[in-house]
Amino acid sequence: MSKIWIFDLDDTLHDASSKIFPRINQSMTAYVSEKLNISQDAAHDLRDQYWKVYGATLKGLIENYGVEPKEFLMKTHDAEELSGFVKQSHNLKNTLKKLKGKKIVFTNAPLHYAVAIIKSLKIQKYFSAVYSIESTNYNPKPSLYAFRKILRHLGKKAHQCVMVEDDLANLKTAHKIGMKTVLVSKKNKKTVFINKRITKITQLKQYN
Ligand SMILES: [Mg+2]
Repeated sequence: MSKIWIFDLDDTLHDASSKIFPRINQSMTAYVSEKLNISQDAAHDLRDQYWKVYGATLKGLIENYGVEPKEFLMKTHDAEELSGFVKQSHNLKNTLKKLKGKKIVFTNAPLHYAVAIIKSLKIQKYFSAVYSIESTNYNPKPSLYAFRKILRHLGKKAHQCVMVEDDLANLKTAHKIGMKTVLVSKKNKKTVFINKRITKITQLKQYN
C-alpha cells in the first residue's frame, strides 16, 4: 500500500521562525490595530486573547467582527516579501526525491503564501496538492475537522498517512485519528503520540 506523506510547511519544510513569523506577527498586529482603530498594544493583547480562545487571530476576528478572511490573509502575508526570506537547500530536494509515495502539504497558512514559499524552495514538483487554511474553511490544525476534511478530499484513510510536523498539538490529533507521526524539532521531545523524532527535515527517510 502506497504511503501518503503529509507535510506541514512552516518550521517543517523551512525555517519560518527566524524571519517570516516575526514579520507576519507584526503585520497581524498592525492590521488589527488599523481595522479596529485601537492602539498597537491593545491589538497585541486582543490577539493574545484570540489565540487562547480560538487558536488563531483570524478566527477571533471572524467571530467577533465579521472580518473578511481573504482580506486579512492577503494583508498579513505579503508573499513577495516573505518568500525573499526563504533559504534554499539542495538537501531538502534530495530528501523529498527519495521518499516513495504521494506527498502533499497541509498548512494553516493561506494558499497564496504557501505556494510562493514552496516555489521559492523549488520543491513544487514533489507535491501533488497543497491544502491551506482556505481548504478547511478557516479551521486550523489541530482541529479534527481540518484533518477529516483533508482526508475526505484525498479519499484516504488516516492509517495510510504519515504526518510530518514541528507542532506537537497537530501531531497529537494526527496520531489520535490513526496517522503515523514524525516530529521535526530541535526543541520538542518525543512523546507517546510521536512515532519518530528528527531534528531537521533532511533527516527524513522512508518510514516503514
Ligand atoms: Mg509548523
